[in-house]
Parts: sequence; structure tokens; C-alpha cells
Amino acid sequence: MPEPLIEIKNLSVYFYTYAGIVKAIEDVSFDIYRGETLALVGETGCGKSVTSRAVTRLIESPGRIVNGRVLYHREDGSTVDLLKLEEGGIREIRGNEIAYIFQDPHSSLDPLYTVGYQVGEAMEVHDKVKNIKEGIAKAVNVLREVMLPDPESRVKNYPHELSGGMKQRVVIGAGIANNPRLLIADEPTTALDVTVQAQILDLLNELKRKYNATVLLITHNLGVVAETAQRVVVMYAGKVVEIGTVDQIFHNPLHPYTAALLKAVPNPLGEIETLESIPGTVPNLITPPTGCRFHPRCPFATQACRETVPVLKEIEPNHFVACHRY
Ligand code: SF4
Repeated sequence: MPEPLIEIKNLSVYFYTYAGIVKAIEDVSFDIYRGETLALVGETGCGKSVTSRAVTRLIESPGRIVNGRVLYHREDGSTVDLLKLEEGGIREIRGNEIAYIFQDPHSSLDPLYTVGYQVGEAMEVHDKVKNIKEGIAKAVNVLREVMLPDPESRVKNYPHELSGGMKQRVVIGAGIANNPRLLIADEPTTALDVTVQAQILDLLNELKRKYNATVLLITHNLGVVAETAQRVVVMYAGKVVEIGTVDQIFHNPLHPYTAALLKAVPNPLGEIETLESIPGTVPNLITPPTGCRFHPRCPFATQACRETVPVLKEIEPNHFVACHRY
């Protein structure tokens, strides 16, 4: 039985806007197992990034975590609820035991500081080095780890002197500098050229193997999922609709949304076929549909789907779906 590193339970995040309360994620529950790469997939706006940010309480106003628990199993065997820790406690974990790689390397780095300073600072704030001078010296090794060419001189460069791919290597370096137990990579390749995307994915896979880290990969790219992850959580309109292994999700999708999503993109594990679009649009999360949030777009919707929220059920070992058809 795989051991969970993080257990997310009934997590809900709302945004209090002038237009109304946006129920960005509601009742989201899933586990992240030690040593796995878990992909969180779904369309833009489905709540992937909000879920990952809520894990370490990186939700900014007007957003608020209104319900849930995030149980984190520490190295010493103890378990803490990250949503209940005091601010000092969560700061110790964030960027240290749980680190982030954000989507856009151009805005993740501060243009006023050298990349060596920024990687060194990530270590200094968590007392992994005595001072920033030692941090910058150690940054050379970190940048070598992420295969940045000529790290001894690159450490003195400012972000504008590097290409997009090099910047993302620096951001990954800052993420892994403290040897995190969980690395949350939020669309780490979206802002990069296709050829560089492959290099960054190879790098992430290599680092994960080397350090036996756990990775939560947020992406809308199913090709990236097939290449990188062992398990998949599918989200739609702020809800988890299906959880399974990569093989289960790609070869036996149970939820009509997952099946439609796979038909809407070229299947990286299958043959070339005609692509289909999903009818309708993503719902407004201020007034989400009643019952199953996918019912206005689902060809199998019944009265029960319009009235009752489906809950996740295990249909085969490790394969869960939230749909009244099962
Ligand atoms: Fe479709 Fe009903 Fe299943 Fe929702 S619960 S996905 S509407 S069949």
C-alpha cells in the first residue's frame, strides 16, 4: 500500500469578488503518495493552480480557504494539518520541504538580482547556509545540478541575460536548492518553446529519480502527463471528477468529461484520429450548475445528475470516479 505524503481532504476555496462568490474549488480530496509524480489535469480555470497553492496557504485576497484539511506526513513520522499551522510554521515548510516551480520563469525571477543571489537566497531564508555569500557559492553547484551551462559565470548573470529555458532551469534550481520532499510544478513548460519543454521535462524526471522527491505536476497537456506521471487527478469546474493511474485514465476513462478531454487532444499513447470538441462552455463558478457540474455538457445527463452532487467512488483498485453512471 503506497504511503501518502499529503492527504487533501474536502478542500474548498472561494473568492469574494464584487460580482459574487466564486467557488473556485469545492470539496476537493485526494492523496499524494511518497515518491510519485501525480498530475493534476483539467481545462484552464478548473481549479488546478488554486488547489496546489492552497496546500501551503498561498491563496491571496479576495480568496479564502473556507473548508478542508491538508495533512502533511513529516519525516519524523508526525502529521500536521498545514491549514492549521501558525504562520511561522508554514513558512518553515513552504520553499523548504514543499517547493514550487511556477509557470512563467520570466516573472518568477526578480530582474534586480543575479540568478546566483536568488538561488542562494532560497537557501539562506531557510538557514541552509550561514549567509548570502555562502548561498551564492553553493548556487554554482545547484545550477550545475539543473544543467545550466557554465554555472560559474552564469551565477553572476541577471535574468534578462538568460534565455527562457535557462531561466526555468534557475527557477527549478531555486526550487530544489533545499532538497524539498514535495515539488509542486505548476505548468512548468507552458511558457517555453517545444524543444526546450522536452529538456525541462527530462530534467524534472532526472531530478525526481536522483532525489526520490514527490512531484505534483499541474498541467493541461496530456502529452506531458503520459511522459511524466504515474497517477492522474482530473478536475472539472472546481471538483475532482476522476482519479486513476496513467494507464487507467488513458485506456479506460470512466468520467464522460475525461473521455471527452482525451478525444479533444491528440492521444499521445494512441493512434492519430479525428479530434472532437466538448459542446458548451466551462460554467460560471459564481453560479455553478446544480448536481453534477458537468451535466449541461454531458450526453448522459439524467434528472439525478441535475439534482444530486456525485461523490467519488472506487470502481476498480485505485480508480475513482464521481459520476452517477457508476
Ligand atoms: Fe454526466 Fe451525470 Fe455522470 Fe455528471 S453524473 S458526468 S451529468 S452522467
